[in-house]
Amino acid sequence: MTNPLAPVQYRVDLADAAAHRYRVTLTVRDAAPEQLLSLPVWIPGSYMVREFGRHLSGITARQGGRERVVQPLDKTTWQVATSGRAALTVSYEVYAFDTSVRTAFLDDRRGFFNATSLCLRVHGQEARDHQLQITGLPAGWDVATAMPALAGARHGFVSAGYDELVDHPVELGRFWRGRFEAGGVPHEFVVAGAWPGFDGERLLADTRRICAAQIAFWHGRGKPPFGRYVFLLNAVEEGYGGLEHRASTALLCNRRDLPRTGQAGMGEGYLTLLGLISHEYFHTWNVKRLKPREFLQFDYSRENYTRLLWFFEGFTSYYDDLMLRRAGLIDSARYLKLIARTVNGVRATPGQQVQSVAEASFDAWVKYYRPDENTPNSTVSYYTKGSLVALLLDLHLRRAGHSLDALMRRLWKVALRDGVTEQLLLDEVATLGGPAVAEALRGWVHGRGPLPLDEALVAAGVHLAHEPAAWATALGLKLSEGALTGVQVKSVLRGSAAEAAGLSPGDELLAVDGWRIRRLDDARQWVADGRPCELLLVRDQRVRTLTLRAGGDAALGQTVALSPEASPSDAARAMRRAWLGD
Ligand SMILES: [Zn+2]
Repeated sequence: MTNPLAPVQYRVDLADAAAHRYRVTLTVRDAAPEQLLSLPVWIPGSYMVREFGRHLSGITARQGGRERVVQPLDKTTWQVATSGRAALTVSYEVYAFDTSVRTAFLDDRRGFFNATSLCLRVHGQEARDHQLQITGLPAGWDVATAMPALAGARHGFVSAGYDELVDHPVELGRFWRGRFEAGGVPHEFVVAGAWPGFDGERLLADTRRICAAQIAFWHGRGKPPFGRYVFLLNAVEEGYGGLEHRASTALLCNRRDLPRTGQAGMGEGYLTLLGLISHEYFHTWNVKRLKPREFLQFDYSRENYTRLLWFFEGFTSYYDDLMLRRAGLIDSARYLKLIARTVNGVRATPGQQVQSVAEASFDAWVKYYRPDENTPNSTVSYYTKGSLVALLLDLHLRRAGHSLDALMRRLWKVALRDGVTEQLLLDEVATLGGPAVAEALRGWVHGRGPLPLDEALVAAGVHLAHEPAAWATALGLKLSEGALTGVQVKSVLRGSAAEAAGLSPGDELLAVDGWRIRRLDDARQWVADGRPCELLLVRDQRVRTLTLRAGGDAALGQTVALSPEASPSDAARAMRRAWLGD
């Protein structure tokens, strides 16, 4: 670091670990007379206003041995009246008891934080070096982060500015740690919360293959745009998620999904974890460096809108599983099953008739990230439908003798500095595949309703088999079951038989045609044969009866199974080989 200005310094102390409180001390030199300090209201990569400031308390300030007045200006900003040139010291506590990857956590076993939750931004000094010192670590605890170490300081780190500081999450505790090299660059994998039988060597070997495939995808034999990369995985009883960063990722998974020593084969849970690893790693290029133009400079105080999450999340979702195939971790048949699951998920989303993926991107702040019982009726996921747009575009570009790979690498060349816009995307697609493909892409992105996938898949050597959907989906019901709640309606899909019958979210299903149901399987027996049936249910403590008749939106009644076509045409075989390698 060569910044000649005095650094902004944070000391993060763990003395109150059992009470889930970090004590933070911030030292500011050259403070303004009315120095503003604020916490972000959101963390880049997770598009929701979370108001991290609500967990901050007890803020005080001192300068030259004297107390200074700290005045809150709004929900996330404080003003400190300073005087003279002495360093300003600001102290506060942050409550941290959220195991998600987006905020902060601390107890007597483990700590984790994003600086967006802990480190006040010093307005006017964002470009200075930001130093982080961690103190009060219990005996035997270690620290893992991609943030560069501060020379000469134990558990000290430094970032070139506030944007970088908040882009390096930190894991604390006694965790498993492994290392490998990919693309000539050291990678580290940290796992907290693993069972003793956890097969770390397998996780390292599989992750290395994913990383090598992605580095080769973007750079051939060249090096990736980071000198070191760190995976921070926390395994819990029940949880799933990931957040991308410039040289690391924070991941959350089910403990039972970790690979176990002596276990062969690729279980669904472990495959999901590898898909998550692949997804977040792909973001290291696609959204952390190749960005929507709107994200070139983040505003931490409010929503940052873009209409392009279908590209940055959807195309990343397309490549996450495709990279598992290219890394040789799954075969084409397994890969096509993953695509079919996405196709069927979008098909069972009536909201795709209401919202385009461009609109879904824009509305992420209030819709995708705030799901409720009406979500499947009012929204479509820019992840899943966006990944199908990528698939369709890839197949169209391949027919034109190119591929989506070429488009991504082209964007890496032309859009790094000024960011990606929709027009730039359309122009580059037109250059590769011709104006008709660009126009088609515009239609998929701004249109509503299903994508024309079937014909494109057949032309790529894929066999389609239409099958009846699961009984609940066909009726338009999303259900849950529990020992205390019984069989409960979570959502009623728009245009479905369940909607026509008058079912409502929250209804508890008691009986079908006079037979008590206690589990989903019980209900399946009675609803499956298509006759009208009498449902006995409870709504707001009142017992009532409804008649459920088959019918409703036919799209809900069907699913598709995808497999490699056994005897494709020569053209289809050649295309599948170029696309899936066999
Ligand atoms: Zn993502």
